[in-house]
Amino acid sequence: FGAKQKHEPLALYDDELNRNQSRRIRLQHDLTDAIQQGGLRLHYQPIVDTASGRVTKLEALVRWQHAELGAISPMEFVPVAEECGMVQALGDWVLNRACADLRRLELAGHSLLMAINRSSLEFQSLGLDGNEWLSIIEHHGLSPRQIIFEITESLFMQGNEHHLERITALRKAGCHIAIDDFGTGFSALNYLRTFPIDLVKIDKSFIDHLPGNQKDGLLLEGILRIIGDLGMQVVIEGMETPAQAAYLSTRPCHFLQGYLIARPMPLRELLIFLETYAGHTVPAAD
Ligand code: C2E
Ligand code: MG
Ligand code: MG
Ligand code: MG
Repeated sequence: FGAKQKHEPLALYDDELNRNQSRRIRLQHDLTDAIQQGGLRLHYQPIVDTASGRVTKLEALVRWQHAELGAISPMEFVPVAEECGMVQALGDWVLNRACADLRRLELAGHSLLMAINRSSLEFQSLGLDGNEWLSIIEHHGLSPRQIIFEITESLFMQGNEHHLERITALRKAGCHIAIDDFGTGFSALNYLRTFPIDLVKIDKSFIDHLPGNQKDGLLLEGILRIIGDLGMQVVIEGMETPAQAAYLSTRPCHFLQGYLIARPMPLRELLIFLETYAGHTVPAAD
C-alpha cells in the first residue's frame, strides 16, 4: 500500500510529461505549416498618449488559431518556434505583416508608431548592423522612426556587447527600443544606464493591485520616478479598471495600454476603432 502511494504521483507526472511532449511535437509540426501557409494573424492593441488622450502607438501581437486545438497563446508557440528553428521565419513574417498594415493605416490617414515584440533569441539572431529588419521596414515604404522593437530585460542577463551593437545600429537608423515586461526578469538594473533605451513598459503585475495596495503603489511610484529621471518614457501595461485609470492619471506615466482602452484586434476592427475613439478621459473617482 505504502509503495503504491509513493508510486502514483510519479506515474501521473510521467503521463503529464508525455502529454506535454506530444503536444509540443505536434505544435512544432503544425506551426511550421502555419508560418509557411499563412495560418498566423496579427492583432493590434492601441496605446494611448496620456498628454493628448489619443492613440499614438500600436502593439502587434501574433495569433494562431489551430484547427483542432483552438487558439494557442504566443507565450506557448513562440518558444516552440525557437525550438524548431522557425523563429526567424516567424519574426520576419510578423515584421512584414505589421509593416504592411502600418502602411495601410498611414494611407488611411493614421499616423502611428508600431511596436513589435522580439524574443531574446530572435534579437540575438539579428546581424550586428540590424539590416535584415531595417530592409524589411524600408521595403514597405516606412521610416525606421515608425517602428519600436520591444525586447525583455532577460536579454541583459548575460552581459553581451553584441546587444549594444544591435541596439545602437537600430537606433541610429531611427528605430525606438522598448523594454517589455519591466520588473519581471530577475535582471540587475544596470542595463538601464548602459543601453540606450527609449521606452520602458511596466509590467501589468505592478498595477494589478492598484489602487488599494500601498506597497505596490510605492513601488510603482519609485519606478516611475527613476525611469523618468533617466529620461526614458513609460508605458503602463494591462490597465483594466476605471479605478486604475483614475489612480494613474495623477502619476507621471506617458502612455497607457490595456483592456480598459481596447483589447488587441484585427486590422479591420482597428480601423473602425480609430475612426470612432473619442480619446482617453479619466473616469471621475467616486
Ligand atoms: P507582451 O508583449 O507583454 O504583450 C502584452 C500581453 O498582455 C498580450 O498578450 C496582451 O493581449 C495582453 N494584455 C494587454 N492588455 C491587457 C489587459 O488589460 N489585461 C490582460 N489580462 N492582458 C492584457 P498576448 O497577446 O497573449 O501575448 C503574450 C506575449 O506573447 C506577449 O507579451 C509577448 O511577450 C509574446 N508575443 C506576442 N506577439 C509576439 C510576436 O509577434 N513575437 C514575439 N517574439 N513574441 C510575441
Ligand atoms: Mg510586448
Ligand atoms: Mg509586456
Ligand atoms: Mg508579457
